[in-house]
Amino acid sequence: MEGQSAVLCMRCAGSGVLIEATVSNSRAELCECARHCRACDDSGFILARDDAQRELVRECECKRRRTSVRLYNDAGVPGKFADARLEDKFRNGHNGVTFDSLKYLASQYKPGDKGLLLMGQPGVGKTFLAAAFIHEMIFGRGVPTHFRDFFHLLSEIRAGYSMNRSESELIQPLVDVEVLVIDELGKGRNTPFEQNILDVLISQRYNGRKTTLFTTNYTDSKSTTLVEKTRPKDAVPGEGDVVTRDTLLDRIGPRIYSRLREMCDLEIMRGADLREPETEVSLG
Ligand SMILES: [Zn+2]
Ligand SMILES: [Zn+2]
Repeated sequence: MEGQSAVLCMRCAGSGVLIEATVSNSRAELCECARHCRACDDSGFILARDDAQRELVRECECKRRRTSVRLYNDAGVPGKFADARLEDKFRNGHNGVTFDSLKYLASQYKPGDKGLLLMGQPGVGKTFLAAAFIHEMIFGRGVPTHFRDFFHLLSEIRAGYSMNRSESELIQPLVDVEVLVIDELGKGRNTPFEQNILDVLISQRYNGRKTTLFTTNYTDSKSTTLVEKTRPKDAVPGEGDVVTRDTLLDRIGPRIYSRLREMCDLEIMRGADLREPETEVSLG
């Protein structure tokens, strides 16, 4: 850190930022050690000289850090992913390919870049990587990036109707934000209402050439997609559950699906369920 002590702060490991889980979202704040900047005396700007010894003003690191803290607190990363980072300790045999793709996208990102569609069974770590990507985009690149769970978005829109809030009020920020991560694509009851929300969101981001990432439990193949068992309301004892194996195409329909494939490169994540304790040894 510029102008700060050469000894790394133990609390933030020198990043100047602390991130904690709250009941709703992950929250970032400046670490004690970064509250006052000696390099610029909190002005946010530093006088420097270029190669020709001309004086120029450049942004101090502390100003970028403050901006990133604000962006992160707007991002809506769920509290349980407060620790998600694209750091090597989180890379493993199951997520390695996707991990590398996300890291590459974050490091090379420019507006208009294709996003990624992370497909795989629940528990393979898709949302963790997506949250880690957001951290990297915001603190590494200073790019506004939002996280939205598609299922929550739908509930909010439904709740909004009763409070006279229009759906566009809730969707517009997601259309506008530079980079968007939609978690749990395809989850829901798949009603025409839900299809329509998704259509509006995806079409507008597509038309605006905006980078969008998705995670989904539904894949392109009946053999790898999410298997859902539902018990019919009028089921008689002894009668089995209804088993469905919808592919992503089944869930979102051909029109949205083909847009999605144009907007995103596909990443299929396989592997042991990270939520099963016995597989934790394979994380290292
Ligand atoms: Zn610190
Ligand atoms: Zn400063």
